[in-house]
Amino acid sequence: MTVTVRFAPSPTGHIHIGNARTALFNWLYAKKHGGRFILRFDDTDRERSKTAYAEGIARDLTWLGIRPDDTVSQSARFGKYDAAAQTLRAAGLLYACYETPEELERRRKIRLTRRLPPVYGREALKLSDEEKAAFEAEGRKPHWRFLLPNFAETPFEPQRTEVHWDDVVRGPQTVDLASMSDPVLIRADGTYLYTLPSVVDDIDLGVSHVIRGDDHVTNTGAQISLFRALGAEPPAFGHHNLLTTVSGEGLSKRTGALSIASLRDDGIEPMAVASLAVLIGTSENVSPVATMPDLADRFEPTATSKSAAKFDPAELAALSRHLIQAMPFSEVAERLAGLGIAGDKAEAFWLAVRGNLDRLEDAAAWWRIVMDGPDPEGRVSPEDQEFVSEAMRHLPPEPWDGETWRVWTDAVKAATGRKGRALFMPLRLALTGRDSGPELAGLLPLLGREETLARQS
Ligand code: GLU
Repeated sequence: MTVTVRFAPSPTGHIHIGNARTALFNWLYAKKHGGRFILRFDDTDRERSKTAYAEGIARDLTWLGIRPDDTVSQSARFGKYDAAAQTLRAAGLLYACYETPEELERRRKIRLTRRLPPVYGREALKLSDEEKAAFEAEGRKPHWRFLLPNFAETPFEPQRTEVHWDDVVRGPQTVDLASMSDPVLIRADGTYLYTLPSVVDDIDLGVSHVIRGDDHVTNTGAQISLFRALGAEPPAFGHHNLLTTVSGEGLSKRTGALSIASLRDDGIEPMAVASLAVLIGTSENVSPVATMPDLADRFEPTATSKSAAKFDPAELAALSRHLIQAMPFSEVAERLAGLGIAGDKAEAFWLAVRGNLDRLEDAAAWWRIVMDGPDPEGRVSPEDQEFVSEAMRHLPPEPWDGETWRVWTDAVKAATGRKGRALFMPLRLALTGRDSGPELAGLLPLLGREETLARQS
């Protein structure tokens, strides 16, 4: 069997790191099994779904290193949902209901006082054709519920009906269909809730594994019944734990906080996001993983814990820094070129500055310092001016290499008696205009003797 997974966001906002976790669990699962990955936009809600959000999600996935094999939109597939609804209606498994939300709430309270489970009592199944016609004449439109297969003789006496599956993340799972209400599949305005379209698409697109957040575990019981009602074998399911903020709140698309787009704008590396999104809340240690194949090797769905995982954005900055500091030039050359960092000095420059960067983009400022001159902000103090001029007189002859800085400063120390900070800081300020930064041993050969001499004041 070919593994086929899908990531199914609703394009109603920006995706955040919790959504990225779902996308990456699917992507890595597909990678591990030589499978396919489908991006499915759950955009049946025409009001709230926006093309711009869908485009943003596609961009965010590309940035994370996810390349869908196929992209589909539910809004283009309504005909299929209508056909499936018709099949269910014809089988007596989709029935019209006319209750208002207030009526449902009143019934729910009554059931609770009678110590009955607060599930829908299927009263609509008792309606005669005349009663339905009367509702319609009043202007009421029906919503449609799926009749869960949780009874033997009569739907009014549901019995414990266990649905089992071996969850690829959580292991063996059981849901009792008698503990839930018949799900509404179609609203009174004719729009579809997510439940049926998702199943229709999973059948139609040959999805073999549905991997999603554990907020869908109960849905899975109903959806497995729907697969069967539509004559299909259910796929395998996997439910991962959700991420929360440090204070335990759920992440929301609407807040924009921790959106993938904002992390990207902050200069966080995509593999830092991927490493944290995948490894947090598992028995694996969270550490920076440089490439997607390496992350696929580390990814073990069954190592995911069952409780929610607290996510601390501060960890991202540290992971990102670690990744940048170990990045080989070959991997960043193109991105550096995009910042104007190219030519025969680019590689040596990268190796000299990477250890000092929080964000890759910060390399651009150091490139300007190397190529154009010291940062004008930082000046050598007047009392150190003479020391800097004296030091320049001890510059070794070229060719220069990684040893030149040590040779030079040894000579300056011997000649002036200065050492430590008093020796290094004026030279750093003269050469870079900054009081901290990359090792000067790496920068000096990039400057060369002539340029170094030109920076003495
Ligand atoms: N659109 C659904 C959601 O975002 C998809 C759930 C699923 O993967 O089945 O919750």
